[in-house]
Amino acid sequence: MDEPRQIVDFSRLDFEFSNYIKQNTNSNPFVCFTCRTCSSLCTSGKVNVLNVAKIVRQIAIGLKDDVLRSKEIWTCATCMKCQEFCPQGVNPLDMIYFLQNKAVEAGMPTIPKAYVEMVTSIAKIGLIQPPQEVISVDFDEFDRAELELPELSMPDAEKIKKNLLKTGFRQVIKELD
Ligand code: SF4
Ligand code: SF4
Repeated sequence: MDEPRQIVDFSRLDFEFSNYIKQNTNSNPFVCFTCRTCSSLCTSGKVNVLNVAKIVRQIAIGLKDDVLRSKEIWTCATCMKCQEFCPQGVNPLDMIYFLQNKAVEAGMPTIPKAYVEMVTSIAKIGLIQPPQEVISVDFDEFDRAELELPELSMPDAEKIKKNLLKTGFRQVIKELD
């Protein structure tokens, strides 16, 4: 399905951002010649909205807000195909990692709820979710003790929380303030 037409407002272009990405990652948006090899191979693009060649182009022309607010960047499966097969060595995946980190720093509302819940749980208990019970074919529930499994050694959640809050995650995990 064709994407809706997007008119670029040239007054919004931020080339400092494009240069900043080039200087602070192992990627270079300015050498992309839009062959779209990355998009045609992209694992996530086959089932999701991700158009990685478009993201690279948006970065190259300085559409900072568009890429930071993009929901697409969160659907990347980190398969690395775009990185390995790009004939120009653009390294699109490195850009996506960078954008995700910057979106977290800025507390963007487009960060998927599932990510926020997972990180909040890590900050609270050190795990992405509390230990789960297993359900049998008869729909009976069993915890680890009932299955005679050893107790889990829990990570130091306070230490993890302290380190997470030193990063941009404070913007995301508001309930820990
Ligand atoms: S494969 Fe490389 S050169 Fe081709 S569109 Fe993607 S980033 Fe640009
Ligand atoms: S690393 Fe992400 S953007 Fe690159 S091809 Fe894989 S799913 Fe697509």
